[in-house]
Amino acid sequence: MHRRKFCQATLLAGGALALSPWLRAAGAEVHATTIDGKELNIAAGAVDDLAAGLRGPLLLPGNAAYDEARQVLNPTIDKHPALIVQPSGVADVMRAVQFAQDHRLSTAIKCGGHSASGKGTVNGGLQIDLSRFRHVRVDPGERIAYVSGGSLLGAMDHEALAHGLVTTAGTVSHTGVGGLATGGGFGRLGRKFGLTLDNIRAVEVVSADGRVRRASAEEYPELYWGVRGGGSNFGVVTGFEFQLYPMKREVLLGNFIYPYARLKDALEFYAEFAPNAPDELQTDLIYGFPPGNDQGFVFFQNVYCGKESEGRKVLKQYAKLGKPIKETLAMTDYEVLQRSSDWDAPRSTAAYLKGGFISELPQALIDAIVDGMEPGAGRSTQMIFQQAGGAIARVPTDATAFPHRYAEFNMMATIGWKPDQPGDEHKQWIKSYWRQLQPHTRGFYTVEADDDNASEWDRNYQGNFARMVEVKRRYDPDNIFRLNANVSPS
Ligand SMILES: Cc1cc2nc3c(=O)[nH]c(=O)nc-3n(C[C@H](O)[C@H](O)[C@H](O)COP(=O)(O)OP(=O)(O)OC[C@H]3O[C@@H](n4cnc5c(N)ncnc54)[C@H](O)[C@@H]3O)c2cc1C
Repeated sequence: MHRRKFCQATLLAGGALALSPWLRAAGAEVHATTIDGKELNIAAGAVDDLAAGLRGPLLLPGNAAYDEARQVLNPTIDKHPALIVQPSGVADVMRAVQFAQDHRLSTAIKCGGHSASGKGTVNGGLQIDLSRFRHVRVDPGERIAYVSGGSLLGAMDHEALAHGLVTTAGTVSHTGVGGLATGGGFGRLGRKFGLTLDNIRAVEVVSADGRVRRASAEEYPELYWGVRGGGSNFGVVTGFEFQLYPMKREVLLGNFIYPYARLKDALEFYAEFAPNAPDELQTDLIYGFPPGNDQGFVFFQNVYCGKESEGRKVLKQYAKLGKPIKETLAMTDYEVLQRSSDWDAPRSTAAYLKGGFISELPQALIDAIVDGMEPGAGRSTQMIFQQAGGAIARVPTDATAFPHRYAEFNMMATIGWKPDQPGDEHKQWIKSYWRQLQPHTRGFYTVEADDDNASEWDRNYQGNFARMVEVKRRYDPDNIFRLNANVSPS
């Protein structure tokens, strides 16, 4: 809409629109930082034109909604974008990306805001906050879920299960589909159905030129290939089409808790048991120390998505570990399970993690894990093994940009502390612990990495890196989408 007409329409609309964030911004020039690190004052007219061309809000510093929008899950991240666009649909995303390109602004995309290193926000650049762009539609006949780019995992599970269908999603329902599905997507059904990204049949992407394209095996196949593992390197995914599979709502859940003193035995059992498990079984292992508790725990979560009697038979192997101190073994609603690890109070815990993929759990690694682990005052300390393998490992390494098909486990060391307390000491502890474990890893999950890994992005994409550079040159030659495991176009 022409700028003057937009102003008239706004004034005529009266009360409700008088609170529009754009009105508060009108007439103000905006201070920003370009991708080359130069300071820039964006003229008021350009900012007004951007606002006039959007259906969703444009938020600027000083606006009440701005502070909420710039926040991400991890409260230690405190970044201030120059501008935040909250698109109402694809057209707003195109407009925002064109603006970023015109002004050479680094562009952050926020979906669920779960990136631990805060890749969903930016200092001085443009943040595209997709929180108003959430919609899931399922075509049960085609077994496809159409998911808009800002959606959260819980909505996808909910809509699909209503038709007796599922696809792989992560284990916390308020995680964003945008970050998870473009980076990987490990979850309770991954060994049966593959990674979330393995189930992408097509994507709709707004790349750096502001154009929207549908990419699939037939259309723009290189873009389709790159988006599945390249994160936001090639643009904003505004729509996903996911393959769905029939599944009964109820799965067999086996939660077994052992005393921390059994950690070594538990790891030795896991090293043998997990790689030989059927595809229907996902076995994750978590152990560590909750805050203020140096007793510790060892927790196995088993989810079997096949026939109950077969699942119970497989889980009998846990008898080798003796009687757990606490046990749940019951058929459980999958959607309830998918919400069971949700955070009651997001942003209540500062967090830091190190992670890497391993193809086996050799004795030397088990010894290093056990010897180095310790509780710490004022922090929770946990190690998480999320199982991979199965259908994930049967996809060829070069079929998607995600290369870590060799992985049997994603091994993560995490700490959490109160956000009003200093975290440096905790981070130093976990970094030194990780130095003992890291030599056993072969690569890492890009969505969990932070700037410590910045010099390793190319090596971590392994044999797929050269092809990713070609895709990057085609779809984001100026690298405005650099808040990710970045593929430099040069
Ligand atoms: C509590 C918790 C539980 C988790 N559990 C799992 C799990 O079970 N399995 C698993 O695989 N991972 C898991 N993760 C990791 C998670 O998948 C990544 O952190 C992921 O990047 C989060 O996506 P997001 O959209 O929520 O994050 P955001 O911070 O919003 O975005 C993260 C990255 O994704 C990009 N991005 C987001 N949306 C889009 C889009 N529409 N188009 C293009 N790029 C986009 C952003 O640019 C940014 O680089 C978990 C993380 C947390 C904090």
